[in-house]
Amino acid sequence: MLLRTCRLLSTVSLALPRHAVTRSMASDPAAAAAEATRFDFLVIGGGSGGLAGARRAAELGAATAVIESHKLGGTCVNVGCVPKKVMWNAAVHAEYLHDHSDYGFDVGNVRFSWETLKAKRDAYVTHLNRIYRNNLDKAKIQTIQGYARFTDDPEPTVEVNGRKYTAPHILIATGGQPSVLSEDEVPGARLGITSDGFFELETLPKRSVIVGAGYIAVEMAGILSTLGSKTSLIIRQTGVLRNFDAFISTNCTKELQNTGIDLWKNSQVKSVSKTDKGLEVTIVTKDPEKKNDEEKTSVIQEVDCLLWAIGRLPNTSGLNIGSMGLDTDEKGHIIVDEFQNTSRSGIYAVGDVCGKALLTPVAIAAGRKLAHRLFEGKKDSKLDYSGIPTVVFSHPPIGTVGLTEEEAIKARGKENIKIYKTSFTPMYHAITSRKSQCIMKLVCEGKEEKVVGLHMQGLGCDEMLQGFAVAIKMGATKADFDKTVAIHPTSSEEFVTMR
Ligand SMILES: Cc1cc2nc3c(=O)[nH]c(=O)nc-3n(C[C@H](O)[C@H](O)[C@H](O)COP(=O)(O)OP(=O)(O)OC[C@H]3O[C@@H](n4cnc5c(N)ncnc54)[C@H](O)[C@@H]3O)c2cc1C
Repeated sequence: MLLRTCRLLSTVSLALPRHAVTRSMASDPAAAAAEATRFDFLVIGGGSGGLAGARRAAELGAATAVIESHKLGGTCVNVGCVPKKVMWNAAVHAEYLHDHSDYGFDVGNVRFSWETLKAKRDAYVTHLNRIYRNNLDKAKIQTIQGYARFTDDPEPTVEVNGRKYTAPHILIATGGQPSVLSEDEVPGARLGITSDGFFELETLPKRSVIVGAGYIAVEMAGILSTLGSKTSLIIRQTGVLRNFDAFISTNCTKELQNTGIDLWKNSQVKSVSKTDKGLEVTIVTKDPEKKNDEEKTSVIQEVDCLLWAIGRLPNTSGLNIGSMGLDTDEKGHIIVDEFQNTSRSGIYAVGDVCGKALLTPVAIAAGRKLAHRLFEGKKDSKLDYSGIPTVVFSHPPIGTVGLTEEEAIKARGKENIKIYKTSFTPMYHAITSRKSQCIMKLVCEGKEEKVVGLHMQGLGCDEMLQGFAVAIKMGATKADFDKTVAIHPTSSEEFVTMR
């Protein structure tokens, strides 16, 4: 039976959208709890991908609902890109303070208040949460607050706070969360925090230990160190960002040390304990180059912030996706095809939960493309995952797009790849005693020297990348770069003058 009357649920906002209806899922009238509210599009997860997909679907006329268990905006807005960038901006201020006297400023005794920064940052994030909520309301998208879990009903159905919801199209956009180590793996591991906890720190830690070699570890170590926390970074091998071009990985590792971070290579945390002066972090270092197999054990004392940045896991374990028969990989990521279809018809997934290119604009673009395919009849609408530009907000920042030199050689053969490289001191540092390098690399393929990779680290590289990424996406060659007149004096002009 299809009931055309809409119910207002205590857990949902405003009026139901145009086509939302309540539907009995069972013929047994006693099974009142089995009644499900029906939408055209049901989105699980109000983060980057879910919100983008939902809003585009609603624009295209679909009756849409978004289920969110925490705060609207997801990882990016609440514990990712946005608050991270605020902290990085603060760290850039701290960095430039060192240059003020060289540029003729006497700024006297500068004091920094983490508390002020955190209060302003949190207020900004709350403001964004409100904007996201207003945008959903304006678009007549239903917001359902609570944790979604698939039921065992024959038709794909989701239950939130005891109520059921269904739709012919259900999008899983539940993102991910930081990995943590168990007490069996590292006794005392629970005494550390993750990137989520970083955004809860009420004061600047005096002594920080960051564990991990990925971009989140690099960014958080950079922020803490630059703002004045004595920071150690523990990495298992000899360099950070090991999936980046080796030129970047080596340079970033060097820059971390240049900026005063105490880097522990070939090292792992063995245990953590708590004393009345803070945490004691026991570290084992083993140099694989040394034949004698000798392990060195060291202890970092009086640590007030131990941060695990050792990877992320998809939010799939509580969804009961097993009952839907969805295929997942060994880490629990949902396996999708190029159109974001899961292995079950009518159920799709986008964003971090799929484990590919974990970036906000990727989740957003995939969500929108899907909405166009489902609700505008654009059957070929899908995201092209090649040539995705990415920035690491290190000090100085990194920009990278396309293939690394190693990937290009592997894919196309060494004889077909030509590399252009440069490294220089940006003009900003002409009169400063503090120096940082800028390094740049172009990976070119074939006789026509098509630019298939661009990698850089240096002042301004974060803002420099987007335009180059457009050119590369359009198939620019080295000759196209050379034909473009330089902008002087900038660092970016080096890309059009490389020989
Ligand atoms: C520290 C950090 C820094 C980052 N910096 C950048 C950056 O600079 N640039 C960039 O592009 N990316 C960055 N990212 C990555 C970016 O945040 C993610 O790629 C992006 O948020 C993924 O979007 P998503 O929609 O897949 O998932 P999310 O944004 O994580 O949203 C998923 C949402 O689903 C909700 N949810 C989960 N399970 C359920 C459930 N069962 N029921 C209801 N709701 C549920 C969650 O509460 C969450 O709100 C960063 C990430 C981190 C952790």
